[in-house]
Amino acid sequence: MPGSKLRIEPTLLRRINERRLIEALQQHGPQSRATLRRLVGMTAPTVSKAVDSLISRGLLEELDPVRPAVGRPGKLVRMAHRSAIVLGVLIDVETCTVVVAGLDGKIEDSLTRRMPTPNSYAGLIEALEHHGRATLGEAPGAPQGIGVVVNALVNHRTDEVVCCANLPILDQRNPAIDLGQRFGLRGRLIKGTTALCLSERSHGAARGHDDIAVLDMTTGLGLGVIAGGAVVAGHSGMAGEIGHVTVDPNGMRCGCGNRGCLETLATDAALVRMIGRRIGRGIRFDEAKDALSADPAAFAEDVAVVTEHVAIAIAAVVNLFNPTNLFVHSELFAADPGRLADALDRVKRRALTGSLASCTIARSTTTKEQASISAIIHEITHGVRLAVG
Ligand SMILES: [Zn+2]
Repeated sequence: MPGSKLRIEPTLLRRINERRLIEALQQHGPQSRATLRRLVGMTAPTVSKAVDSLISRGLLEELDPVRPAVGRPGKLVRMAHRSAIVLGVLIDVETCTVVVAGLDGKIEDSLTRRMPTPNSYAGLIEALEHHGRATLGEAPGAPQGIGVVVNALVNHRTDEVVCCANLPILDQRNPAIDLGQRFGLRGRLIKGTTALCLSERSHGAARGHDDIAVLDMTTGLGLGVIAGGAVVAGHSGMAGEIGHVTVDPNGMRCGCGNRGCLETLATDAALVRMIGRRIGRGIRFDEAKDALSADPAAFAEDVAVVTEHVAIAIAAVVNLFNPTNLFVHSELFAADPGRLADALDRVKRRALTGSLASCTIARSTTTKEQASISAIIHEITHGVRLAVG
């Protein structure tokens, strides 16, 4: 029907124009309307109309005029920092963190709150609501949504945690929906590696890149991939589980039930376990970190095992996905630049030369706290729900 086509097109065009402006601001930071016009290649009236609409909906803000060397002072437009805010929640085994940020992704560090992770799900939601309300009470701006990051498999079709070996109170739960209901806000649950990937692309070193990967080797070995600008999610959001590729059929039992998975050998947690075994007792992360920096030679053999398997993991990602940027997220192993350099040396022997030549490999430039707000901001600013877990 010609009539309906005419009605749809202007709405669609307006949305496309608004999205292009938002992407330009997210990639380049605050801009004048004139610069925005050049960045997106749209006419002055089109830019003005779209910017005004986004400002009236609280997604953008106008900054005080800056006085150029010559000509009239121009106001800058930026993603909302004060008028619209989001709450980010990071649920980890020992600690939970609540942060608040503007739609520009800048976290208000002074309002960040941390708490020990409660041992029941009801206790967890109670405590997160309490800390969330306290944080929002001090933050300026209208809350738009809640992002919740978990280090667990998330099925985006059933919209719940599949299983969390390290924190079973989350099994078959969706804390983002439960918290969202309490706050009357939209909530979004996302797994840590996908969130890290989105965060590197929107607020980290991968701005403007369409083919990136993040290898999270802290507790488990997780992988997040953006290929051709889209998150690689698989059928239900569970793609990228490189940690459960078998590398030693007779190896130790993994949390997934199989033996010799890559994550039993290529993570910070694996190194902590190996250091503990050498010391003769189970130890916590901080203790392992101190022991390793006090006497590196005593644990050289353990570091060598982890290095070899980190190299296998990195080379596999380079060979499979051919990214331009690969980020390694690690708090123990890669804390020493020498250890990561050793692993990258070994990667040269395992990755395909052509793929490796076009790939920059470095430590992650973002944090899981930052990552907790990336998906919800993306959904608010783009008006679409991401089909990722
Ligand atoms: Zn496994």
